[in-house]
Amino acid sequence: MLALLLACAPLPPLLPLDVTPQLRANSTEAAQLLQAARNDEQLYARLVELCIHHPGRLAGTDALTGAVNRTLGWMLADKQENVRAEPVQVPVWVRGEESLQMLAPQQRSLGLLGLGGSVGTPGLEGDVVVLSSFEELSEAVRGKIVLFDVPMATTTPSLEAYGQAVQFRVHGASRASRFGAIAVLVRSVTTRSLYTPHTGGTHYEADIQPIPTAAIPPEEAAAIRLLLAAGEEVRLRLKMDAKSLPDGPSANVIGELRGSELPDQIVVLGAHLDSWDVGQGAHDDGAGVVQVVEALRILRESGLRPRRTLRAVLYTNEENGLRGGKAYAEAHHDEPHLAAVESDLGGGMPLGWSSTGSLEQQNWFAEVAQRTGLSRLRDGGGADISTLNGILQIGLLPDDSHYFDFHHTHADTVDHVDPTALKEGLAAMLLLAWELGNADGMEPGIWTIEPG
Ligand SMILES: [Zn+2]
Repeated sequence: MLALLLACAPLPPLLPLDVTPQLRANSTEAAQLLQAARNDEQLYARLVELCIHHPGRLAGTDALTGAVNRTLGWMLADKQENVRAEPVQVPVWVRGEESLQMLAPQQRSLGLLGLGGSVGTPGLEGDVVVLSSFEELSEAVRGKIVLFDVPMATTTPSLEAYGQAVQFRVHGASRASRFGAIAVLVRSVTTRSLYTPHTGGTHYEADIQPIPTAAIPPEEAAAIRLLLAAGEEVRLRLKMDAKSLPDGPSANVIGELRGSELPDQIVVLGAHLDSWDVGQGAHDDGAGVVQVVEALRILRESGLRPRRTLRAVLYTNEENGLRGGKAYAEAHHDEPHLAAVESDLGGGMPLGWSSTGSLEQQNWFAEVAQRTGLSRLRDGGGADISTLNGILQIGLLPDDSHYFDFHHTHADTVDHVDPTALKEGLAAMLLLAWELGNADGMEPGIWTIEPG
């Protein structure tokens, strides 16, 4: 009966983001933690360390291996418990040299970034067709280079607009290949640009001929569209050395603060250690990595110990494989987990939380979330923890109004991360970890592994 009632209970309404929410401490312990987070100077120092020593932490690179070793060293130095690197085999994709030339009506070079996972080409030439949707695909693109020129909507928060715009990056090559296109270019997924191309993963469906695919700066997408509208024919030459190599070794980095009363119940705090091969992966997701590491360190040094075990998990290979998240799910599905939290939307000011779970879990979480001063604002969670079906999944929602300016670009560098906002995000993660580690009223669960 209770379950039935809960199943019928509506979720609390989602709050609009028209006021800046403030973190709130719910107890003297929480107040102590909040203060420690706001005073944490090591947070930004560690982000700098990660970014300048290990830029471009794509799966299979020495940079990612270095980041695994560095963060392991941090957790050992912080005297966390059960610190280890759990091996994960990851896909290896190498960008190599790449170039895009306009041959007509002008002769000049264009900026580009090949999309992760793309096949290469020793050099192909073709006339360009500009499309604004998948519905416009037809036999007319056979033998042509297709440009999907679809701007990302300028709505706030940006996450939904990103989800809509990114489909051309992810599916464009497969869809256009079915109609005989020889290559696909996409307008970079962003709302603001100073001639910045944005990379990201692409996906080839199993039954299509893989064709090369790359992102170009929004300015070039606009220029090509305008040239075509002016009656010009636009001809391009694309060269990409991109290739996929056999899987290579990597690891998830894990450390724990064992619970005082219920050590077998786990609350995961997570972020992903890898990044794209360009930029420093500062917002995506160095910010989340140092927030997770520092949240555990502050708790350890405070002497406060929540009832449940808090487990920091730095996932490998979120960007082009999700192998770290999947490996964690495989390796730990026998352990009772109460919740998994992820910080993977950059180092902006924290505004609220997203979550995914049963109605009962969502309602419970909406109440627990209030104790941090931040509300549950929407459905969601995080890519790495999406593998934990059945467990309450929670995502930190920072102000993302500038996140997608830097996302997956050469410009995702540590100088673009605001130290004060980063600390506030740490404080939010720490307060939530404390509440989840101690809260009553919800039993932990385990998840089911999808076959295959
Ligand atoms: Zn990310």
